[in-house]
Amino acid sequence: MADECERREFLLKLAQFPCSLLLLAASGPLQVLAEEGGETRTKAKHYGMGIQVDKCIGCGRCAEACKAENDVLREPFYFRTWVERYVFDAEGNVTVDSPQGGIDGFKPLDEDTRPFRTFFVPKLCNHCENPPCVQVCPVGATFTSPDGVVLVDKDYCIGCRYCIQACPYGARYLDPRTKTADKCTFCYHRIQRGLRPACVEACPTQARIFGELDVTASPLTRLKRMNHTQVLKPHLNTEPRVFYTGLDTEVR
Ligand code: SF4
Ligand code: SF4
Repeated sequence: MADECERREFLLKLAQFPCSLLLLAASGPLQVLAEEGGETRTKAKHYGMGIQVDKCIGCGRCAEACKAENDVLREPFYFRTWVERYVFDAEGNVTVDSPQGGIDGFKPLDEDTRPFRTFFVPKLCNHCENPPCVQVCPVGATFTSPDGVVLVDKDYCIGCRYCIQACPYGARYLDPRTKTADKCTFCYHRIQRGLRPACVEACPTQARIFGELDVTASPLTRLKRMNHTQVLKPHLNTEPRVFYTGLDTEVR
């Protein structure tokens, strides 16, 4: 995350383009008009991710790619993204496992388990529109970028863990090396260069789709238009920007 754009860099960049400041001031941050790819944009960029549960084969390449790309600690319990396996037995009982976040693959189920149905659910920070992690941070180190990505400014983070406790999705951890909070950034350093997040790039089945939410032709918008999508824990009103297709109601 060393080359990640932080708030001060945003402000510096904006300051270099006074016209953008004027536009923002005149029309509000979400009403910037721009032309991109022949399509008129009426809103600022807002990134999100789609996850097609029925396409995930639990290979864990996404979690492995994330660790490599973002220098995430190799020890267990430190993940920016991970894959959970849900196993239902004939009586409807459900067990969930995620050994090594799915990186080493999932062991075949023993016969005693008598699985009735299984599926895999990749998880990560939901880059919530109403992020409790941002609300509780006492020093403003956790913030939302203008394009809707929730980030951590490590220079400001004091390691108090409030955000880790506030996140209802278990998406954050304290990096023992820096003593600062860490989590998925949608590979912000990559998407700023027009690249896809490492997990999306590594997925062999296109179970993960990344894109803009306010552009009609983006793959994510298309996924949302053509499928019924759900978010995790919708009753919490965090308004996640990670959208799932084929999500079972038992998934928490
Ligand atoms: Fe914050 Fe957790 Fe939402 Fe990510 S998933 S934005 S860490 S509350
Ligand atoms: Fe599922 Fe794709 Fe991740 Fe493999 S790489 S576990 S198919 S999301």
